[in-house]
Amino acid sequence: MRVLLVEDEAVIADAVSRGLRAEGFIVETADNGIDGLWRAQEESFDVLVLDIMLPGKNGYEICRELRAANVGVPILMLTAKDGEYDEADALDLGADDYLTKPFSFVVLIAHLRALLRRAPAERAPVLTTGDLRLDPGTGRCWRGEHEVVLTAREFALAEFLLRRKGQLVSKSMIAEHVWDAELDVDSNVIEVYIGYLRRKLDKPFGRADIETVRGLGYRMSDTSETMGGHS
Ligand code: CA
Repeated sequence: MRVLLVEDEAVIADAVSRGLRAEGFIVETADNGIDGLWRAQEESFDVLVLDIMLPGKNGYEICRELRAANVGVPILMLTAKDGEYDEADALDLGADDYLTKPFSFVVLIAHLRALLRRAPAERAPVLTTGDLRLDPGTGRCWRGEHEVVLTAREFALAEFLLRRKGQLVSKSMIAEHVWDAELDVDSNVIEVYIGYLRRKLDKPFGRADIETVRGLGYRMSDTSETMGGHS
């Protein structure tokens, strides 16, 4: 099991990561909120342990931004009684569990194991924009009621764009994350695959969700906020 520990206090980070490794976990650490959020979004972890007071970005912001980006990894927050926030805030913002500092290592392990046990069934966030839905857990994709069959590469590209819906995604980002750097960014392979996706996801349904940002890259439109009217 791969754990990301985001904790700026080196003594705690060292002690916790050594203890977790002794229990058989693979532990990666980040000592500030910016790196922590980036790694949680870009890499695959089975569970996150998030301190709250962090340089760059606090644990609450990381939690909220991950959930807003449909990153469903279980999150354990390390809260402090004297803090400006409390446990209720942690759960409101999308954390799954919390521990109040100081905590015993035995209790931390118990909480992590409990989170990991319940993780697979509950954690399969479906990515959406408008009536386009992509389920990374099952590899299936729908436009409205119609299931659309995508190849593995098409699916990976659609997933990458959807996870960043509303944001500009450059070709070099796509090359790095969807082709795993085996692709020369100047090649037209990305354009070709964008074309495949448009022919499967957009054109047959009269949509244009996959936008070209001329000279810069692509953007998956974010139309979820307009679904179901204003509220
Ligand atoms: Ca801290």
